[in-house]
Amino acid sequence: MTEFEKSTTGEVLVRAEGVRKSYGLVEVLKGIDLEVRKGEVFCLVGPSGSGKSTFLRCINHLERINAGRLWVDGDLVGYRQKGDKLYELKDKEVALQRRDIGMVFQRFNLFPHMTALGNVIEAPVQVKGRGRTDARARGMELLERVGLADKAGNYPSQLSGGQQQRVAIARALAMEPKLMLFDEPTSALDPELVGDVLDVMRQLAQDGMTMIVVTHEMGFAREVGDALVFMDGGVVVEAGHPREVLTNPQHERTRAFLSRVL
Ligand code: ADP
Ligand code: MG
Repeated sequence: MTEFEKSTTGEVLVRAEGVRKSYGLVEVLKGIDLEVRKGEVFCLVGPSGSGKSTFLRCINHLERINAGRLWVDGDLVGYRQKGDKLYELKDKEVALQRRDIGMVFQRFNLFPHMTALGNVIEAPVQVKGRGRTDARARGMELLERVGLADKAGNYPSQLSGGQQQRVAIARALAMEPKLMLFDEPTSALDPELVGDVLDVMRQLAQDGMTMIVVTHEMGFAREVGDALVFMDGGVVVEAGHPREVLTNPQHERTRAFLSRVL
């Protein structure tokens, strides 16, 4: 049994079956099939334009798929099934599904007029109706976890890119998601700031968080990843354990891509 086969036994958290997405006449996702297991770090790699961000955006309700099925924790994303008919979820129901998914973008997108702690407690207070005292205590724990307890009162403009990204991670965690999506979280950072962010992600992985990570950091994928999918042109070209795919890619397109990023 390969390392990958051994690891493909856990409970599935995200399942994609034949997922297609078009913008106008251009099909960007051409039938994606994959499964992400609970507690797994699932790395999604591939050239620019291959559809990685689009796929994450579909999971997180920022885009609606055109065909196929997408499930998170057994629930169809955006739809309810009755018999063989699908009904679109209402906005409130969509909001409930989205609450369980944290997303971290390449650009940190913090609220500029709020402190680090303010950013972290905003959603728990506004969306979950948590009391401020309780949210602040929990927010401080999360800032501690990402190594920024001493920056709680700083505004985003007073933080480095790496610190802002760690606040963004703490902010996503504050909603207690069951799934975290990372879309090239270190691509916009100065090289010397990348390590701190990857360390936080590594810790999160050790704590058992299920994570889908779009990244060009192959060192991270190799060390922390449990599964790796190589996408190109809107299809999954190759999937396996990161160490297997990275050391012994089966497809020419994977080899060509890896020779550029490794
Ligand atoms: P990746 O994240 O792998 O670089 P994306 O998912 O961002 O790829 O994009 C895949 C393709 O879809 C690209 O050709 C991109 O130009 C196109 N695309 C992405 N978003 C939109 C949009 N909102 N409207 C039209 N085309 C889009
Ligand atoms: Mg992208």
